Amino acid sequence: MDTRQFTDCLLYVSEAMIASEPRLTALDQVIGDGDHGIGIKRGFTALKTLLSTPGFAAVDIGDCLLQSGTRLMTSMGGASGAIFGTLFRAGGKALAGHTEFDAATLADWLAAGMQAIHQRGGALPGDKTMVDALAAAAERARIESERPLAEALTHCAQAAMAGAEGTSTMVARFGRAKNLGERAIGHCDPGAVSMALILQFMDEFANRL
Ligand code: ADP
Ligand code: MG
Repeated sequence: MDTRQFTDCLLYVSEAMIASEPRLTALDQVIGDGDHGIGIKRGFTALKTLLSTPGFAAVDIGDCLLQSGTRLMTSMGGASGAIFGTLFRAGGKALAGHTEFDAATLADWLAAGMQAIHQRGGALPGDKTMVDALAAAAERARIESERPLAEALTHCAQAAMAGAEGTSTMVARFGRAKNLGERAIGHCDPGAVSMALILQFMDEFANRL
């Protein structure tokens, strides 16, 4: 995927994330304050506007991720604005100068995102946050870094959704769900589902190219 195709991929992801608002809202109503879907919709609507502005051009994959992350961070709000903004911005820094998005750059992005999100918010796998989906995807991406991008994305998206579903058995150590203690058991973390959906929609786009 070149920089232009990657930009179109993020545009596709933005539209699909906007459409996922009801599902994400429903999840956050159970173990959070119900605003996760609204925040995601607001952030990805702002990102869609940025990417579809006539004349928008990113110089490389890193620049596209950096600009996207800044836009998400300044528009989404809530814990997830900082967290998902950091995911994209960390990728922006890690992939500066890359003009091809392949399975190896995907692995670099997810690894950089994991590290930056941990530094920012302290969460590790097992804490019932989006990190559980991201860690599963990053692990899969590392293993598949030599594979064709479309194939690696399919497996990363599956791993991320399995990671998100796995949060259902966990007690939260970060975010608002922490206040629920054991009552959060039996429910998926909304941010983890968002993380898995981002990869699922990237996979959908890549497999239609
Ligand atoms: P808020 O908690 O401010 O209402 P959102 O509802 O938009 O924010 O997002 C909640 C999601 O943010 C959670 O489901 C979780 O995945 C993620 N999250 C919260 N705190 C952290 C953290 N420290 N590290 C990683 N992800 C986090
Ligand atoms: Mg919330």
